[in-house]
Amino acid sequence: SSSSLPSTAKAVQISKTGGVDVLEYNDVPVPPAPGPGQLLVRNRFAGVNFIDTYFRVGLYPAPVLPLTLGREAAGEVVAAAPDASPSFPPGTRVVYLADPDAGAYAEYTAVSAAKAVAVPDGLGLDKAAAVLLQGLTAWTFIREAANVQPGQWALVHAAAGGVGLFLVQMLRVAGAKVIGTASSEEKRELARKNGAGWVLDSRNDDIVARVKEITEGHGVDVIFDGVGKATFDAGLAMIAMKGHFISFGNASGAVPPVNILQLGQKNVKLMRPVLYGYVAERKDLEKYTSELFDLVTSGKLNVVIHDVYPLKDAARAHTDIESRKTSGKLLIKCD
Ligand code: NDP
Repeated sequence: SSSSLPSTAKAVQISKTGGVDVLEYNDVPVPPAPGPGQLLVRNRFAGVNFIDTYFRVGLYPAPVLPLTLGREAAGEVVAAAPDASPSFPPGTRVVYLADPDAGAYAEYTAVSAAKAVAVPDGLGLDKAAAVLLQGLTAWTFIREAANVQPGQWALVHAAAGGVGLFLVQMLRVAGAKVIGTASSEEKRELARKNGAGWVLDSRNDDIVARVKEITEGHGVDVIFDGVGKATFDAGLAMIAMKGHFISFGNASGAVPPVNILQLGQKNVKLMRPVLYGYVAERKDLEKYTSELFDLVTSGKLNVVIHDVYPLKDAARAHTDIESRKTSGKLLIKCD
């Protein structure tokens, strides 16, 4: 019950932007009760996402300072506001997308109830936190942004990364022919094992030439590009006529402004989607989350956990994800 709550708890915060040394392991007040519409959650596992590094370095502006980092976690509901909708009884196992100003690298987080879903029995809190944000990103981008059709050629950059490894598996479910890129042989093997028919070496291969060969001149019908600056121009060169170019991240830096006249040559549909727009309505969050959990519990989606870091070692998780050495999901254990 909330009467047994501690008055302070640990959280990883930034009060200025910069390198991993700006991450602070702080004692912060635990809200005595959730705010309007909110749940107070005792986090068990928080997901690490590349976006956390964008807030840390300042590529994306912090909505408040100090800011607790972390966009998702899974844990148990400690208390629910009387007007929380849906209302989750205390003890419910939930996984959630954090509110912008109250992140999940913490022992306790207050979150809008509308951004939380119950974790099905039989799904561990570690897996739930490992799959939510990156899995919803991959699934909604395949279904809504690109509307991938069976038989299409799809290219996934950073195919052994968090989002990438979900994309290759889900694209197989959608019936696409999948070409991945990755920077090490170990990563390429992982992408192959998880459904990529072809995996290219992003450091040494001529990606455009190899894609032309593999697709026999057709090009790729859809590109999922979370790498950004380093891969954008190659994307336009290897996309098929009428292709969908889904540019969704900045791992190598943000894509500079684009001359839209370039798109006319192949009638390219270029998009820069953000997950939150596809799950802004409760019905969409519930629909896509339930489809995602079904993929996991039916065994169609393999959830690869790279490593689990103690909360106080969040800086090491950031160093690792930024160094291109990780594959699959990085988790933080919140106690
Ligand atoms: P990943 O686990 O995929 O890590 C990033 C990967 O990017 C690396 O492993 C690396 O793979 C590749 N990469 C290529 N160039 C660089 C570079 N210069 N520095 C670092 N990494 C590089 O991270 P996530 O799965 O969390 O995110 C993947 C991308 O998706 C990110 O850009 C993220 O911002 C974006 N994203 C966007 C969302 C949206 O709503 N728009 C939602 C979620 C994620 P390799 O070494 O094999 O090239």
